[in-house]
Amino acid sequence: MRKRIIAGNWKMHKTADEAKQFTEEVLEKLSKSDKVEAVICPPAVYLATLADVAKGSDLHVSAQTMHEADEGAFTGEVSPAMLKSIGVKHVVLGHSERREYYNETDETVNAKTKAAFAHGITPIVCVGETLEQRESEATVQVVADQVTKAFADVTAENAKEAVIAYEPIWAIGTGKTATAEDANEVCGEIRKTVETLYGKDVADAVRIQYGGSVNPKNIEELLSTEHIDGALVGGASLEPASFLQLVEAGANA
Ligand code: PGA
Repeated sequence: MRKRIIAGNWKMHKTADEAKQFTEEVLEKLSKSDKVEAVICPPAVYLATLADVAKGSDLHVSAQTMHEADEGAFTGEVSPAMLKSIGVKHVVLGHSERREYYNETDETVNAKTKAAFAHGITPIVCVGETLEQRESEATVQVVADQVTKAFADVTAENAKEAVIAYEPIWAIGTGKTATAEDANEVCGEIRKTVETLYGKDVADAVRIQYGGSVNPKNIEELLSTEHIDGALVGGASLEPASFLQLVEAGANA
């Protein structure tokens, strides 16, 4: 049985005080469960503080992106070595907003995925189609291609530990969720792609999240499907109560 993973992607939200308050409240109320892993993805500026606040707890702190190099003349960037040095063990890679606004490509996602593993950081690799691609029935091909490129030259041993987030772009922040059936179907295709690349063992182990307007009301149905092992949640992860409900749904699924 794959451990579920619920990740709250804060994007560019919260002040320092709000970030700390959120984390403290969640830590106070989070119940321990072997069935679910709870992750928050705050802006980079809060990572060190929140990793400290959450140290030794069941709440993991993830970066929203990173550079692939260990260090260098890359103004404004954060490296995997830096993340590791502050105890951050997860990183979201290739989010559609990074692809759209910050020139993230399948090639940079691949370089970053390899860099994450080289530092013992678990990547949450995001893939997903645009509305136009969905309407032209290219979804399966698009996500299979993104997964194949993201994992080029990644070993089976590492791939097994990866998290893949299927996020149809048209469902992000729009209130439009893919139906559980559609989302499960695409996640199943992603698992097939992983099987083609690495074999059944890895495909069975890899965790696949759905993302795009997930909230406490629709999460149960999504998690009741065969291939959806968790959720990457934006808007509905910003309040402690709502985030805790999502994690609880993961524990009970
Ligand atoms: P949303 O964002 O839940 O607000 O749609 C999801 C994401 O972008 O990861």
